Amino acid sequence: MTELVHQRCLHHPSREAAARCPECRRFFCRECTVEHRGRMICASCMGRIAETPVVGNWRASLWAACAAAGFFLAWLIFYYAGLMLARAPSDFFEVTR
Ligand SMILES: [Zn+2]
Ligand SMILES: [Zn+2]
Repeated sequence: MTELVHQRCLHHPSREAAARCPECRRFFCRECTVEHRGRMICASCMGRIAETPVVGNWRASLWAACAAAGFFLAWLIFYYAGLMLARAPSDFFEVTR
């Protein structure tokens, strides 16, 4: 870790590097690094990791789940509406009697 002392931040040449990004292997000061899952990585790599396909897949699956839930809800409404329409005449006559 002694080599860190002689390294400078990529964005701040006047500052000494506090950490080395394990993703891009460049040196950064404390301000330019962000903690991500126990590791200190630079802000640009943090943004890159945040846009990984894993997040996209999670969003896609969420949308699929919402669509499935909406379809199921619509089916349920139509099912019960049909059920009520089928039952309505007999119930109606029983109540009026
Ligand atoms: Zn990086
Ligand atoms: Zn910096």
